Amino acid sequence: MADYQAPLRDIRFTLYEVFDAPALWASLPRLAEHVDPETADAILEEAGKITSAVLAPLNREADEQGCKWVNGEVTTPEGFREAYQTIVDGGWNGLGGNPEFGGMGMPKTLVAQFEEMLQASNMAFGLAPMLTAGACLAVDAHGSQELKEKYLPNMYSGVWSGAMDLTEPHAGTDLGIIRTKAQPNDDGSYDVTGTKIFITWGEHDMAGNIIHLVLAKLPDAPKGPKGISLFLVPKFLVNDDGSLGERNTLSCGSLEKKMGIKASATCVMNFDNAKGWLVGEPNKGLAAMFTMMNYERLGVGIQGIGAAEASLQSAREYALDRIQSRAPTGAQQPEKAADPIIVHPDVRRMLLTMKGYVEGGRAFSTYVAQWLDVAKYADDDARREHAEGMVALLTPVAKAFLTDRGLDACVMGQQVFGGHGYVREWGQEQLVRDVRITQIYEGTNGIQALDLMGRKVVGSKGRLYELFAEDVGAFIEENSSNAALRPYLETLAASLERLSDVTEHVINQAERDPDAVGAASVDYLDLFGLTALGYMWAKIVKAALSRAQGDTSGFYTGKLKSAQFYYDRLLPKTVALAEGLRSGSDSMMALTAEEF
Ligand SMILES: Cc1cc2nc3c(=O)[nH]c(=O)nc-3n(C[C@H](O)[C@H](O)[C@H](O)COP(=O)(O)OP(=O)(O)OC[C@H]3O[C@@H](n4cnc5c(N)ncnc54)[C@H](O)[C@@H]3O)c2cc1C
Repeated sequence: MADYQAPLRDIRFTLYEVFDAPALWASLPRLAEHVDPETADAILEEAGKITSAVLAPLNREADEQGCKWVNGEVTTPEGFREAYQTIVDGGWNGLGGNPEFGGMGMPKTLVAQFEEMLQASNMAFGLAPMLTAGACLAVDAHGSQELKEKYLPNMYSGVWSGAMDLTEPHAGTDLGIIRTKAQPNDDGSYDVTGTKIFITWGEHDMAGNIIHLVLAKLPDAPKGPKGISLFLVPKFLVNDDGSLGERNTLSCGSLEKKMGIKASATCVMNFDNAKGWLVGEPNKGLAAMFTMMNYERLGVGIQGIGAAEASLQSAREYALDRIQSRAPTGAQQPEKAADPIIVHPDVRRMLLTMKGYVEGGRAFSTYVAQWLDVAKYADDDARREHAEGMVALLTPVAKAFLTDRGLDACVMGQQVFGGHGYVREWGQEQLVRDVRITQIYEGTNGIQALDLMGRKVVGSKGRLYELFAEDVGAFIEENSSNAALRPYLETLAASLERLSDVTEHVINQAERDPDAVGAASVDYLDLFGLTALGYMWAKIVKAALSRAQGDTSGFYTGKLKSAQFYYDRLLPKTVALAEGLRSGSDSMMALTAEEF
């Protein structure tokens, strides 16, 4: 397998040439205090080194070794403790964190690029910093000043790691029915009791303490999602002077054996009157947890692109090297027994599809990150609210579309290798196994689609959708005099119109048919995602056109040709999706349960 190399040229292209991130940062004074292009570039460079030279080399062997559980203690694969220390030493856990508590205050647009490299190089490991950063965000946004001061500095530094404890054996999607209880004590703490399952990095040997954010119910809590509270429950209690005290009464009961990300610990966590502290208000825990989950959801989408990028790097190298059969147009390398498989149109189809999703997806996650930066740092209320609307709308698309296409891309990367992709040696089968979970955790992709269609689009009566449609429309308008870009803009305008028509159609259907949203949602999210990536590829074309002349490296011309493929072969999938969507829920709901 080709060793993963952080794609810094492509990342810089996205950040600086497609998006002009420094202009965005400069427009947000509270952000501009912390970041400038030189700092950002040094961070990218260093992130590239650590992920390529430290994390990627551990990926394969760690997958073979997995984590080991003995009497409640979890030992991580060889090299993980040292790698985690590298992450701590570099302050990477707190890259986007609040500087008041030791974070670096970097913009999400930059952090997203680090996350891609982190996840591409070693997804199982990458979950630890990702969950810690998310936990910090929830404590920062909802915790009391005392909790923040006590926990955040050590969490941002990574000396302590974070875990999120939502799922129970009988409650995954439907968190309203969790059974974990929290009993108040006189000193303001709570005794938390219950069992959580599937808790990623719930126990391990890489950090001095593990801070669990646990969903539980207070004794008088209302039934359902409105009766859930959030608690901070540390593995080791923390004394007032900040030193570690006695072990809290929580333990890891076992580790799951699973399909992929085998080097990450997926823990059953037992809480037995464990001491915890309320984060945010009673019964508002789900909302507080959503701060963390929204952050994680973009992060999970980025995992999809990261895995696909790693798969693409390997598949591209293999396609240039592996010789089989002659090109349909005649021998390309007559001195060899056969031509490299990259001459075959179908192999090109696979590589170009992967490029379409990876590079378009990288631009899309940067686009969403850009809205997250505005939502967090804009001083102007209207600008902030607008960005919050965009984040709400686009987060489920980023999570589900990028992970669905991430798996598609990894399967294609595996296919490029033929039988060699199925066996262990080349690393492609690990990427397929690893990326599969991204469609399931952080809310399944089916639930993301319901969130998009039901809560965001229908729930806002199309208002949030309009924000996106206006943004795409404005781009088309602004660039209408660019003759070379015009063919793309015309196709993009037609795709947007298709999406807008379907949106209106489903909003109308939903008024009459309670199953309309559920029947439309997954295909709708796909249609939305394909259109959004079409928009991203138009932005890529715009950036590349202005630099392609005289480009002898092939970098910009390669972008233009890849964009053409996206527009010719991937964007038209929206036509079939739109037609299917119009059929409504009838055929889906017609069968009785027995008829299945
Ligand atoms: C490796 C791994 C790591 C994980 N890490 C964590 C972690 O760190 N912390 C944590 O708390 N959890 C974690 N999870 C749990 C994960 O988030 C859940 O598995 C996921 O949310 C789905 O819940 P479930 O498995 O109970 O499936 P269910 O909720 O039982 O869903 C089963 C199926 O029904 C569908 N479904 C359910 N309700 C609806 C509905 N209303 N409409 C339409 N379809 C519906 C779902 O989409 C799914 O296809 C992890 C899981 C795994 C496997």
